[in-house]
Amino acid sequence: MSTKPKLFSPGPVDVAPETYAAMCSPTIGHRGKDFEELYASVQPGLQEIAGTTRPVYLNTASAWGAMEGSIRNLTRKKVLNLCCGAFSDKWYDVSLRCGKEADKVQVEWGEVITPDLVRAKLAEGGFDTVTLVHNETSTGVLNPLADIVKAIREFDDIMIIVDTVSSFSAVPINVDELGIDVMLCGVQKALALPPGLSLMIVSEAALERAKELTDRGYYFDFHEFEKNHAKNNTPSTPAIPHIYGLRERVEFMLAEGMENRFARHAATNALTHEWVAKHGFKNFAPAGYESKTLTCIDNNLEIDVPGFVKAVRAKHNLLINGGYGKVKGLTFRLSNMGNETLETQQELLDALDDVIPDFL
Ligand SMILES: *Cc1c(COP(=O)(O)O)cnc(C)c1O
Repeated sequence: MSTKPKLFSPGPVDVAPETYAAMCSPTIGHRGKDFEELYASVQPGLQEIAGTTRPVYLNTASAWGAMEGSIRNLTRKKVLNLCCGAFSDKWYDVSLRCGKEADKVQVEWGEVITPDLVRAKLAEGGFDTVTLVHNETSTGVLNPLADIVKAIREFDDIMIIVDTVSSFSAVPINVDELGIDVMLCGVQKALALPPGLSLMIVSEAALERAKELTDRGYYFDFHEFEKNHAKNNTPSTPAIPHIYGLRERVEFMLAEGMENRFARHAATNALTHEWVAKHGFKNFAPAGYESKTLTCIDNNLEIDVPGFVKAVRAKHNLLINGGYGKVKGLTFRLSNMGNETLETQQELLDALDDVIPDFL
């Protein structure tokens, strides 16, 4: 493991040794008391972190499972996908592949979804579901969640599905106060677990909506999750090692304190922004809408990004990301999510300082 680079790419991110150790707990049967205790043990902490009284379903799939499942559970007629980057754009495609009617608000990659754009599109009528990616990991844009939710609530009978894969636990997200219907996230980004599990928080209203759909399938059926939750269990055999790891992370987060955790992310993010400015680069996201968990850097200096990424790895054994999808090479990304501190983030930036002169 020691020869593998430390991950500063925005997902998966570096996993703490304590988390790996927790994941090595002996496997237990999932239809017994031991598992029920394990399942129940993570609920109060996750509910506190998410600001919800609803259960937190543990879904053995990466985030896309939850994203596809949410569409299948909730869209009876037509979904509006808010698209501003690789993940949000793909959700539109996934909606169509689920056999749903779909339309989108599309902004340029690097731009923000505004409440006015959402309002104008919904005014066309016919939508019953909206999807939003809170923190668009491909572009480093943090969309104005509360304002967008408010705009959607001006319209009746619309389910709001929010992907918080790279923001959950790093910035405040109060699910009940916001009044969102589905909050979902994978665990390999802001939660700093290895990939393979996702969380879903589903409102009572969303459960009611799901009842109207007869083709929601089995594996991601919200009602299967709700029914099994009542028994502190999951519909099918879960990734038990992940739940041990999750329990360790929840305890870690509560011990850290959420305010401290938010402040830590803000500080490591600000430090990264200083590095960007110092070298004459620019943030890809507009001012005021920058992600707090990663920095997507506009390659305005036109450096050889693949060469830079390679050199950072070769010389310092750190993995940064050379841009995603159609902005590959035009941007590069540095993560500060998970367990990074000012000290470890500085180590990354020092390494970049060491390598960058060869590329300017
Ligand atoms: C990584 C990511 C996903 C996709 O997660 P998978 O683990 O590949 O399913 C979805 N949304 C966002 C915002 C992401 O960052």
